[in-house]
Amino acid sequence: MAKATVDVVFTWCRPGTPEKPRGYEWKRKGGTWRGRQYLVPLFGAKGEWTEYVPHPGLFRAFASLGDNTSDETLLIKSFAKAYGDIIARPEDDRLRLTTVVEIIRKNATLETWCRAIEHMRRAVVLWDRINAPGGQDEMQRLFTRPKGASAILYWRAHHPLERKSDNTTCPALVMGKDVAKYPVGQIVPLARKALQYEIQSAFTDTETPSHTTACIVTPDLHLALRPTNLLAFMWLCFARVVSGVIEERRCEMFESCGEYIYVGRGPGLQRNDTITCSAACRQEKKRQTPKSS
Ligand SMILES: [Zn+2]
Repeated sequence: MAKATVDVVFTWCRPGTPEKPRGYEWKRKGGTWRGRQYLVPLFGAKGEWTEYVPHPGLFRAFASLGDNTSDETLLIKSFAKAYGDIIARPEDDRLRLTTVVEIIRKNATLETWCRAIEHMRRAVVLWDRINAPGGQDEMQRLFTRPKGASAILYWRAHHPLERKSDNTTCPALVMGKDVAKYPVGQIVPLARKALQYEIQSAFTDTETPSHTTACIVTPDLHLALRPTNLLAFMWLCFARVVSGVIEERRCEMFESCGEYIYVGRGPGLQRNDTITCSAACRQEKKRQTPKSS
């Protein structure tokens, strides 16, 4: 059997040119002050947009939007300026010259952004704690075993915009005789189960416009996955990291840059011998390494 990988074929769009990104502005449906807020692309007179290939580690930047307590509408707006809307491609709007009302029907609402960010953040935090020495202790409070009930509950925090009253839900992660497979005190197997739950719920989420990932066959009969939108792309990248299809490793200059390297086969991924994230880090590493001769 020939060994082939399943590639991910994906490009996304943002308004403006590479030199002059134009970004988005928040608009309310119907122009009222109470309606739902949507991001509407700013095109300018020429209506230009830039097509680009997103970085495989973009899910981390997206998840980290939820770490901050400052104004989320500003954080989301600057993310969208750099990477585009998570649901709709801006060029669709430009080509069809739709009205603002029609545009905002397709783009993500503020609620959708916040729900999606929080969902990704829960998953990435689980992944990081599973892998961090000592991270396990912090996960204990995520799981409870109610007395008398043969179930283990998983406490999920939600964004206030997602749920009007109670900001946590606690689905039964494990039930019945399966509870015995998760001994008290062993937190990693439970955390991995919760991680699977989060990823699977993203893949099957029909409430947030399509996370689905379609398959295509290229003209040279190569099988590839083509995510529907930027949100689907980020979840697919994260799932590839968690499943080991992509290896995520820290840049050797991680303490100063905080960046990761994504190693694997296929478009946008680095070779196995890559140790730094950028030309700047490569230079810095060189400078710090004492000359052997
Ligand atoms: Zn670096």
